[in-house]
Amino acid sequence: MEFTVGNTHSQLGGVYVLRRHISLSTLSLLFLSGFLSCNLNAQVAQKSPALGIPQAPPLVGDTIALALEAQNWLVDLIKINTTNPPGNEQAAAKYIAGILAKEGITADILDLAPGRSAVVARLRSSAVADPSKALLLVAHMDVVGVDRSKWSVDPFGGVIKDGYIWGRGSLDDKSMLAANLASFIALKRGNVHLNRDVIFLGTADEEQFGDASMKMVIAKYWDKIASGFAINEGGKVVLGKDGKVQYVALQAAEKVSVNVTLTVTGKGGHASTPTKDNPVVHLAAAVDKIGSYNTPVHLTSIVHRYFEALAPLEDEETSKWMKVIDTPDRGEHAIRYLAEASPMWNSMMRDTIAPTILQAGFRGNVIPSEARAVLNIRLVPGDTIDVLVNDLKKLVNDPQVKFEIAPEGGLAAPNSSLENDFFYLITRACAQEFGGVPVIPFMSTGATDSAQLRLHSVQAYGLRPFPINEADDARVHGDEERLPLASFPKGVDLMVHIVAEFSVTR
Ligand SMILES: [Zn+2]
Repeated sequence: MEFTVGNTHSQLGGVYVLRRHISLSTLSLLFLSGFLSCNLNAQVAQKSPALGIPQAPPLVGDTIALALEAQNWLVDLIKINTTNPPGNEQAAAKYIAGILAKEGITADILDLAPGRSAVVARLRSSAVADPSKALLLVAHMDVVGVDRSKWSVDPFGGVIKDGYIWGRGSLDDKSMLAANLASFIALKRGNVHLNRDVIFLGTADEEQFGDASMKMVIAKYWDKIASGFAINEGGKVVLGKDGKVQYVALQAAEKVSVNVTLTVTGKGGHASTPTKDNPVVHLAAAVDKIGSYNTPVHLTSIVHRYFEALAPLEDEETSKWMKVIDTPDRGEHAIRYLAEASPMWNSMMRDTIAPTILQAGFRGNVIPSEARAVLNIRLVPGDTIDVLVNDLKKLVNDPQVKFEIAPEGGLAAPNSSLENDFFYLITRACAQEFGGVPVIPFMSTGATDSAQLRLHSVQAYGLRPFPINEADDARVHGDEERLPLASFPKGVDLMVHIVAEFSVTR
């Protein structure tokens, strides 16, 4: 392999965003690995100087042709309707196993429930696996449902039109599934020497987190996916209004979802003679108090890093407040400003409580004897549901209102490290792919399969590698979900780059 110096600017870009958090030894490691990757960058410089995008890591071949193949897999995967419920992920698992079989890779279909399976395959680095080093590529195969009347194309047609791939799962998460598959196959085709096992995993039931989910894969098949590092959905490559990538949000933590049910009982009876214990009135008052309650602020280390890194990219006013979020004199106002500016920022700074279901009554002239409400609570990792529910009981201050915490709540997982070689490598690869953009550590307000992995000491990072603007991002779980055609090969290239650099011995 020939070494030529190229794309030095991006290398520095990658280092720059880490400025305050790296030790000298890490810095030298970074430069060393940066040097090793120069041959990748040289290809870039030759092939697409205008875009500055690395295109052909020579170890694993041309990603342009590969991305075109992967685009066909994505279209096929969209056509396999895996709406959850019922999921029917087994069909997608079999499709993927078929693609892998053509490459000489034997995949395992892991049966979880009738019609529901995960699919796993492994490329070995040596006869004896070292799970602590292994890299897991994970994406889920199920999708959420659609309201067909709101779509201009068949959501399961795999339609390519007007510069987009349309369909349920085109963003969440079948594009990542196809890009992971491409990265995995690139290693096999490249006949490379791996320094760690690389494991491909397609999961089921991510959207409902039920009996066929990652939880079950871990419980029944952990030995097949045991790994030290993972890359999954959960982050994003943010495309600005000018069509340029602004930054990459890399998910290293996520909030924890817990449902709490409020139940109020009373005598009930004829609506012509109401009494003071009407459950509807008590429940409505409780929901009103909870709905307007501001939970205490809890800024985690990742959220600190997020605001610190995002500040230079925001407008002057927002930037000003992001920078003083920690200060004793202006911090409080800063938090209020940011919470009002963005529901997501608000949710990153505190536990949130969203009343989502109300149930009471069955006839207009009858006072019901019971009324219920469901609160969906998203905890900042480190906060506990018991403490919050106690606060809510005091706030509601009504013995008629009973609180019940659902046993199936998520578990708080530790953050993934922002100080290991894999994190640095992702940071550097993103900077190279997208012209020196910063990578910003991020805590997602939504849940992913990564929490389960982090609970098993896996350093899991969330990255959806395709550049997407805000408007298209808002279509996730909504109508007319679509992926820009031009973004797909960039995401494939980034994934191939990350996976090859981390796992191939040069
Ligand atoms: Zn998803």
